[in-house]
Amino acid sequence: MAETMKGLHRSHRCTEVSNANIGETVTVMGWVQKSRNKGGIIFVDLRDRSGILQIIFEENDIGVEGFEKAEKLRSEFVIAVVGKVEKRSGAVNENLATGDIEIRATELRILSEAETPPFPIEEDSKTKEDLRLKYRYLDLRRPDLQKNLIMRSKVATLTRQFLADEGFLEIETPMLTKSTPEGARDYLVPSRVHPGNFYALPQSPQLFKQLLMCSGYDRYFQIVKCFRDEDLRADRQPEFTQIDMELSFVDIDDVIDVNERLLQKLFKETIGVDVQLPIQRMTYAEAMDRFGSDKPDIRFGMELKNVSEVIENCGFSVFTSALEKGGSVRGINAEGQGEMPRKKIDALVEFAKGFGAKGLAYLAVNSDGTYKSSFAKFMTEEELSNLVTAMSGKPGDLLLFAADEDDVVFDVLGNLRLEIAKNLDLLDKDDYKFLWVTEFPLLEYSKEEGRYTAKHHPFTMPMEEDLSLIDTEPGKVRAKAYDIVLNGTEIGGGSVRIYQNNIQEKMFEVLGFSKEDAYDRFGFLLNAFKYGVPPHAGLAYGLDRLVMLMAKEDSIRDVIAFPKVKDASCLMTDAPNMVDLKQLDELGIRVADKTE
Ligand code: ASP
Repeated sequence: MAETMKGLHRSHRCTEVSNANIGETVTVMGWVQKSRNKGGIIFVDLRDRSGILQIIFEENDIGVEGFEKAEKLRSEFVIAVVGKVEKRSGAVNENLATGDIEIRATELRILSEAETPPFPIEEDSKTKEDLRLKYRYLDLRRPDLQKNLIMRSKVATLTRQFLADEGFLEIETPMLTKSTPEGARDYLVPSRVHPGNFYALPQSPQLFKQLLMCSGYDRYFQIVKCFRDEDLRADRQPEFTQIDMELSFVDIDDVIDVNERLLQKLFKETIGVDVQLPIQRMTYAEAMDRFGSDKPDIRFGMELKNVSEVIENCGFSVFTSALEKGGSVRGINAEGQGEMPRKKIDALVEFAKGFGAKGLAYLAVNSDGTYKSSFAKFMTEEELSNLVTAMSGKPGDLLLFAADEDDVVFDVLGNLRLEIAKNLDLLDKDDYKFLWVTEFPLLEYSKEEGRYTAKHHPFTMPMEEDLSLIDTEPGKVRAKAYDIVLNGTEIGGGSVRIYQNNIQEKMFEVLGFSKEDAYDRFGFLLNAFKYGVPPHAGLAYGLDRLVMLMAKEDSIRDVIAFPKVKDASCLMTDAPNMVDLKQLDELGIRVADKTE
């Protein structure tokens, strides 16, 4: 029979008890991590969210009955213990915050017994993730996950404090709303009162935060759930959390300034990392050119080099035909990797093919100055030596080249660079390298849709100096959009918004929306713009990714209390699931036969 805690009050969390309490009587409560009966003396490690504390039970202190009760303790029992804090009699445990003290128990209550859990509750669990997710409530007891969620809570609290101090107001926006413009698929919620009608869950509060600016709130923020029904990707969640903000009467530098200081505070106060300000900025064009990515990892070099001019007239037709088709030839230099075994090079070639490369040309510079290469035989000595010089190749280096359309070349080399860095262990998780990427293209051409789509979203302001290109060369127009990138991961992004109706209408025209379509979808925003709208701009962070990097985890699932798996289901609750026919009837919904 479970006992109650009547008359007891927890005086400390486990690791709040310290040397300073020696001689005092304390009351602690938590879970039994483990219990060892050494005959006449029982040692229990008591665990709560703060950590572990050692308790000793001896008949002399706790009486016969109390000792018998202590003998029953098993892992994960929930207990309350009253006892005296003592200096540890046995060996000091350097690994524990409370390693030099222990509690000599004078009272024990078993508040709840526990069955043997399906996996041990311990740090660095070896248990398969699926099982851990099925029993997430047990998994969440593990110290690593507890540390992560505590860190996440701290990040949220610091964000609120900082933004409030900077004059931001925290304002909630609706969850049951209309389709928003972030370009993913919506999650829909059927309306019972309006049969056949649906709400959309927000992909972001974008339109509402812009409306709040129209309404004069000036600086808004929200830590908010967003929903995107995207195609399955390993590290995506259908619902995720943004730190979302919008500011009035500002331009890019103002947004960047406040966010740099926010990041500096968050990193200092949660993980003790100093972020040097100002954070480096790089245009999108430069990021692509040097790193083949719009979110470059700048913890290491291995930059792309465009060698198109060098190989222009060479005898290797793979190179020259890429140029003839309007593409380019670029390379990276994996310094010191010239001895890489053939098998590993082949693996890199396969890797490159996964990103659309037809092949990957390589050239290793041997220590005697000769080459080992997949294409040397098609080139003259002089052509080869010019190429090696252009790549700053030295004896012992491995040069890798992609020849294709620019998009493919960037994608292949950008990813190859990361793959090699990973293989060579160059990605130090303790090294935090931030980067603003600016001047994104406003539009991107969708081959499937046969039209331009907004790269960020349709409310993003074009750069003033490019406005004149919008009719003639829309693909060349740059946007007042910016991303904040950390170690190769985009942790946030935003833009200065269009606030002039004529530019907004032009934008919709370029995107192929008729005026009616545009008003149908976003009329409430366009109408609001008729009644006095301040220039405004904003940004949103993916909180999950931010905390993941701070916690040095590889998956956002490790910083989300109840995450879903790749196919968007929850292994613990079994959501999504079928519902009662009655519920569907009320909603006027009939589920089509899958074969229909
Ligand atoms: N709403 C945008 C997003 O979710 C962020 C922004 O432009 O503020 O990416």
